[in-house]
Amino acid sequence: MSVGAGFLDQVNQAFDRAAGFTDHDPTLLANIKACKNLFYTSFPVKRDDGRIEVMHAWRAQHSHHKLPCKGGIRYSEAVDDEEVQALAALMTYKCALVDVPFGGAKGGIKLNPKKYSPAELERVTRRYVFELVRKNFMGPGLDVPAPDVGTSAREMAWIADTYTQLRPGELDALGCVTAKPVSAGGIRGRTEATGRGVFYGTREVCNVVEDMKALGLTRGIEGKRVVVQGLGNVGYHAARFFQEAGAVLVGISESEGAIASPKGLDVERVMAHRREHRKILDFPGATNLARREDALELDCDILIPAALERQITAENAPRIKAKLVIEAANGPTTGEADEILGERGILVVPDAYVNAGGVTVSYFEWVKNLGHVRFGRMQKRFEQGAYGRLLEAVEEVTGRKFTPTEIERVTHGASEEDLVNSGLEETMSSAYHPIREQWKQRQGAVNLRTAAMIVAIDKVALSYVQLGIFP
Ligand code: NAD
Repeated sequence: MSVGAGFLDQVNQAFDRAAGFTDHDPTLLANIKACKNLFYTSFPVKRDDGRIEVMHAWRAQHSHHKLPCKGGIRYSEAVDDEEVQALAALMTYKCALVDVPFGGAKGGIKLNPKKYSPAELERVTRRYVFELVRKNFMGPGLDVPAPDVGTSAREMAWIADTYTQLRPGELDALGCVTAKPVSAGGIRGRTEATGRGVFYGTREVCNVVEDMKALGLTRGIEGKRVVVQGLGNVGYHAARFFQEAGAVLVGISESEGAIASPKGLDVERVMAHRREHRKILDFPGATNLARREDALELDCDILIPAALERQITAENAPRIKAKLVIEAANGPTTGEADEILGERGILVVPDAYVNAGGVTVSYFEWVKNLGHVRFGRMQKRFEQGAYGRLLEAVEEVTGRKFTPTEIERVTHGASEEDLVNSGLEETMSSAYHPIREQWKQRQGAVNLRTAAMIVAIDKVALSYVQLGIFP
């Protein structure tokens, strides 16, 4: 069985389990679960040495209950039709959980980006966009990609450029893709948004004293021992925010191996070491672990898988020592592992909620692109003036003179980045509580994943009913 097939089964089983706790019409549930469109294409691409190679690429649109569809593009040798369908379905549930008005989608090209030059990757990316546009599988009102494993802002810039060339005069063309560089219509704060969202989501979970007590933990992030698997976009930024909040990074795993230090690893120094030596191994003061997957079994409070799907399995789940597993990656825990972790009293915070920060800020970027104006541009100066006048009035009444530092702190008007981060914080914090309520109300009958899925199914079902499609 391919990884993709196992992953799709895993997502569908999670859906079925949750659907059993709802009272929606079975046809409506079957409609929500099914992938609506699956596009496959193959195309020839010229390598730098003149050879021609045939590429295989997909785009799955899981749901059209809200449009456009939204989801990343993955470049990996493991990409197949089932993997993109699994990831697209997760996007539907994720968007619903954080009230982002999109249907779920995902795309991918079967290639290892490390084996291609930037010029080759550019040719592949532009041709993929051409194929998507030809089949009406892309556009600001149809389907809006973003990065995922193996892609970044660079690929998003190529995508935006190709799309705008193919659609001359389309006013909202820049809204065809998100996580673009800021200079190409992106939004400040998007690069780190998923990792930041993982941090906000975990902080919300850790702030509930009663739940932490049940795990034998204290409230908050400070002092918690954290292990991160994967120092890519999501894992690196998540590690950074946990470290800034006072968590201790006791283990890191990457493709080349894993390192550990009970005293803590400085993530910036580990990144610098990796840039210099092309590996995290042999980091001063840390121990190299025998295998990269051994990091998952380190003694810690919080385990953050932030690499790929199906990393915690029935094989290693009995040895996981963390009290909390934070699914920064999509689908890192198999269904069997999920059950084992639950039986062992380990709380798993599901991907569909905790890694939704990326799509949340992508939504802000899309809104910015359709509005054609940077957030904060209209109000920043006005806010600064208003707060300044307020401070002057306080000075007049109290006779106290504020220092320039105090004035600067209070009168600071919100920039685009401030607004993005505060919107993200609000989204992640408020989205957790309906999930927790479902979990608590059902008194042990469901775990957090099933609770999140119930919330998502209810929201998607309501959309279909409101559209008049189902009674
Ligand atoms: P990335 O390619 O930037 O990073 C993945 C990292 O994991 C790489 O550094 C890679 O070397 C490492 N890795 C791969 N296999 C590993 C293994 N077996 N052990 C340890 N490390 C390994 O990808 P990303 O964008 O950070 O995405 C990571 C996960 O987060 C994926 O599951 C993705 O679907 C999910 N995700 C990403 C975003 C986003 O905005 N980028 C949003 C939501 C979810």
